Amino acid sequence: MIFAANFKMNHTRASTQQYLNSLQKGLDSRDMQDDEVFVFPPSTALCSWNGSITIGAQNAYYQINGAYTGEIGLEQLQEFDIDTILIGHSERRSILGESQEFVSKKFQWFKEHNFRIIYCIGEPLELREKGDEAVAQFLWEQFNGIDINYDRLIVAYEPVWAIGTGLSAKSEQIANTHRELRKKISSPILYGGSVKPENVKEILSIENVDGVLVGSASLKADSFLEMIDKAK
Ligand code: PEP
Repeated sequence: MIFAANFKMNHTRASTQQYLNSLQKGLDSRDMQDDEVFVFPPSTALCSWNGSITIGAQNAYYQINGAYTGEIGLEQLQEFDIDTILIGHSERRSILGESQEFVSKKFQWFKEHNFRIIYCIGEPLELREKGDEAVAQFLWEQFNGIDINYDRLIVAYEPVWAIGTGLSAKSEQIANTHRELRKKISSPILYGGSVKPENVKEILSIENVDGVLVGSASLKADSFLEMIDKAK
C-alpha cells in the first residue's frame, strides 16, 4: 500500500526533520515490506533522506534552472536526490491557476526526467452533484496531455469538495470512481480527501484503492503512523 503525506504550506525545515525522524523510527519498527511511504514537505524543507521514506516535491517548474522567480527546478531537486513530484493538485489548479495545458507540460517534462509522478485529479462539488457519468467525463479531461501508460505514474483521485473539509467521499463514490479509472489506468490509484485514522481502513479496503494521499491528518507523525497501523 502507498501512504503519502502532503504537508502543503505547513511545517518548517526544523519541524520536518523532527517529523521525519519520528516517522522513520516508527516505520523501522513495523513490517512495511509491501508498503511505500512518501512525504511531501514544503520546498524550504526538502532534504536528502537515508531511510525508507521517499521525499517528494509538492511542486517545481519544468526547467533545470533559470529566470523563474519564486520557483525551484530540477537542479534544486537533484541537490537532495529528489525524483518524485506531485503534479495537478487541485489547490495548484484552482488557487495558483494552473491550467490543464500547464499541468501537462510539467508532467511531460518531469516524465522525460524519469520522475515518479503522483498525478492528482478530482472534481468540484457541482460536478459530483450531477452524478457519476459527469464526474467520469470531467476526470478523463484532466488526463488531456498526460501519458497514462507512464511506468512511474501514480494517480491520486481527490474530490475537491473532500479536501481539507473533513468530509470524505462515501465508499460507494470512491469505489465507482476508482472502478472507472481502472478501465484505462494500470498504475496505482490513491484516494485523497479528508482521510484520517477513523476512516482509513474502510477506504483502503475498497477495490482499486492502492493507497492514500493525506493532508491534514498527516501533519503529526503519530497520527500518520496511527493511520498506517489502522490500515494494516
Ligand atoms: C490533499 O490536499 O492532498 C488532501 C488530501 O488534504 P486533506 O487530507 O486535508 O483533505
